[in-house]
Amino acid sequence: MAWGPFVVNVADIRRSAGSRPARIETPVDWKVAFSALMPSEPLVADLVLRSIPGGLVVTGDVEYAVEHRCTACLEPFVERTTIPIAVTFELEPDEDGYALVGDVVDLEQMIRDEVLLSLPLVPRCGRPHEEVVTSAGTDLNTGSPDTLGDSPFAVLRELLEADDRGPGPEGVR
Ligand SMILES: [Zn+2]
Repeated sequence: MAWGPFVVNVADIRRSAGSRPARIETPVDWKVAFSALMPSEPLVADLVLRSIPGGLVVTGDVEYAVEHRCTACLEPFVERTTIPIAVTFELEPDEDGYALVGDVVDLEQMIRDEVLLSLPLVPRCGRPHEEVVTSAGTDLNTGSPDTLGDSPFAVLRELLEADDRGPGPEGVR
């Protein structure tokens, strides 16, 4: 096993069945479709490792800076996030489990999984975008009382008619 920043020797707490803090501070270049962790700002993991029979419990927080690309306006924006960690490593893990190998634990895959899972699939920068403002303004401010009274039923009727035409595209809830 390569001795990177995420690899921790836990021989001390394995022998005493105790616990101790572990702090990892390292740049990472992990990314998914619209989001990339910023190598210029190190990821910081403040963890507590606790020895249990057959394994190790890891709890704590991971803080990181990520640059998203807004899926509405395509502008980049930066977010700082802290996520909680509570994961078990086992000497004999099942298929999806994390492994404790002797007295050494490699936390990289677990932290990477937790961080990437916490990223939004469709990041939005939070600023108002034109298409949202326009549609809301049209419905609420320019409709006459008659149109406003009718519109909920018109929408419902449209939905029902769409239903009659058969099932929609797969995956739409
Ligand atoms: Zn945006």
